Amino acid sequence: MKRAVEAERAGEAVRAGEAVRAGEAVRTGEAGRAAEAGRAGETAGGQPIQLRADCARCAGLCCIVPAFSRSADFAIDKPARQPCRHLGADFRCGIHADLRGRGFRGCAVYDCFGAGQQVCQVTFAGQDPADPATASQLHAVFPVMRQLHELLWYLAAALELPALELPALEQPAAAPLADELRQASQEIAGLTRLEAPALLSLDLGQHWQRANTLLRRASELARAGVQGPDHAGADLAGARRRGADLTGASLRGTTLIGADLRRADLRMADLTGADLRDADLAGADLSQSLFVTQAQLDAARGDAATRLPPSLRRPAHWTQ
Ligand code: SF4
Repeated sequence: MKRAVEAERAGEAVRAGEAVRAGEAVRTGEAGRAAEAGRAGETAGGQPIQLRADCARCAGLCCIVPAFSRSADFAIDKPARQPCRHLGADFRCGIHADLRGRGFRGCAVYDCFGAGQQVCQVTFAGQDPADPATASQLHAVFPVMRQLHELLWYLAAALELPALELPALEQPAAAPLADELRQASQEIAGLTRLEAPALLSLDLGQHWQRANTLLRRASELARAGVQGPDHAGADLAGARRRGADLTGASLRGTTLIGADLRRADLRMADLTGADLRDADLAGADLSQSLFVTQAQLDAARGDAATRLPPSLRRPAHWTQ
């Protein structure tokens, strides 16, 4: 699945998780994420929108909607909109406890950013996801909602940057940018509540483009004074950067598959959309990295010495 969705966006890697997957979608079954606190989208009133998957409130959408290609991330081929053979009638994954061992690493790293439960519990509230007519619409809406939720996640992450809270005397651009981010987030949040036909007619590329501009400005503001090398969009697969000083680097959309980043200093590095599959982050410092997602960490390797942003958890498969 992969790049089909990406092509719909402004062309740049605004988002992260995508690079981590092996195909258009990948999916999850990571019901365990439900209990974790996630970011919530800005709203102009009403309930905050949760931006982390809660599989218990979904109907296995990421196990049905995307197509899989047999690869290092998926043990099987699966056409789009067909349930995975491991998905039960209760919409639970039958091999959830051993996804990596069974060759479904892509499932273990996927996050819908809470889109699954939004579609099932809000867009199609009260409707039976097993009903064929409902299921057909529900499956069509899910990819749209996922992009909206991913946008909300990035905008929320930007609003949490300490640089956006600096007083006007210290950083005059901070407050106006925070206002723009907040407004964009509220507008996207409003879109998530549209009915299915309206959701399906959205011009998502336009929304990604606007968000990307704001996110770039937020990144530049956050990295002002600490800007490091610009590797945006570069292919650094397998690169040896052990112990490298990458503070303030732009790694937006950078391919870092299998890169050696052991003990690298990635504080204030912008990791938006960086492909960290199998990158070695042992001992690396990501404590202040910008726009790093849980999916990126889950796809990488690391250890107990890797320093993480406070909002993210250490993947269980990392070495101790
Ligand atoms: S292996 Fe499990 S988590 Fe992955 S797609 Fe199939 S049912 Fe879903």
